[in-house]
Amino acid sequence: MEYRRLGSAGVQVSVLSLGSWLTFGSQISDDIAEELMRVSYEAGINFFDNAEVYAHGRSELVMGKILQKFNWDRSTYLVSSKVYWGGDKPNQTGLSRKRVMEACHAALKRLQVEYLDLYFCHRPDKNTPIEETVFAMNTLIQQGKILYWGTSEWSAQQIMEAYGVARQYNLIPPTMEQPQYNMFHRNRMELEYSRLFQGIGLGTTIWSPLASGVLSGKYSSGISEDTRMARKGLEWLKETVLTEENIAKTAQLLPIAQELGATLPQLAIAWCAKNPTVSTVILGASKVAQLQENIAALELLPKLTGEILARVEAILQNKPEPTQY
Ligand code: NDP
Repeated sequence: MEYRRLGSAGVQVSVLSLGSWLTFGSQISDDIAEELMRVSYEAGINFFDNAEVYAHGRSELVMGKILQKFNWDRSTYLVSSKVYWGGDKPNQTGLSRKRVMEACHAALKRLQVEYLDLYFCHRPDKNTPIEETVFAMNTLIQQGKILYWGTSEWSAQQIMEAYGVARQYNLIPPTMEQPQYNMFHRNRMELEYSRLFQGIGLGTTIWSPLASGVLSGKYSSGISEDTRMARKGLEWLKETVLTEENIAKTAQLLPIAQELGATLPQLAIAWCAKNPTVSTVILGASKVAQLQENIAALELLPKLTGEILARVEAILQNKPEPTQY
């Protein structure tokens, strides 16, 4: 396993990590969740990603039980949560001080840990002054309940605003952002945030490296029952990502993966990890074999030469152009 600093922060994250969205407490049994965590940890993965909204809190409950059971040395792993969607009533959504404090306490209980290593504002909240959120995050750090805080899917401008507030009041600024990043979805990471990496040392924990499984190539032959795209309630996801164009691109990428002695998901994951502004690629898996295959993507990293990357680029045809901004 390779470890990278989380941007300019001192803490190190494994370049591959494990997330629990749609799987823990929902699609998969608790036994499979346990096996996924065991396989991850034994492969050197040291970061487990979670959020209060995943399976309405059940994902954190399941992960908490597994952490209790394994009883790994607390210094050997990082666990996260995210605050934003907590419920339907007033004060159960967003990033007010009340929300952030209560959500953190609830996540600590569900995960059965004394502190969260990483805590994310899951989305920006236009109804809360940014000062209120930054002060709340700073308080949680001072109280030892979280160690690093960051954002998810905030614009570069919103991140800089939060950073500016932190600097103005001598508070701890956001350390990391969690954006979507994969072969089909590149603008934020490669363009919009590009000045933030050098400028404020932003770390990134990127999500959906396989575009929800589409980049595994398995949808070329239709949608089978036991896949994410077949799940009820995820029609919006299917419409966004399971397009004819994307399926055609995966078919064109397959020979490159095969030439390198790898599988398509391995190529897609290694491609994300090849970007040095990615601190960690958060993997998702509904089966242990998928996770094992995906972890082996690391072996592909040295084989992604400039020539190979150029061939991939010629297929993707979506390299972000600076003129767009
Ligand atoms: P991916 O894009 O990698 O999708 C993972 C899914 O793809 C798996 O659950 C599985 O679904 C399928 N899959 C994985 N590996 C293979 C394989 N080798 N062959 C075939 N199919 C495969 O990642 P996720 O979308 O799950 O995102 C990863 C993590 O990122 C999440 O768990 C979460 O922690 C985080 N995240 C954060 C968000 C945010 O807003 N901050 C939003 C979304 C995710 P199946 O078997 O069901 O088809």
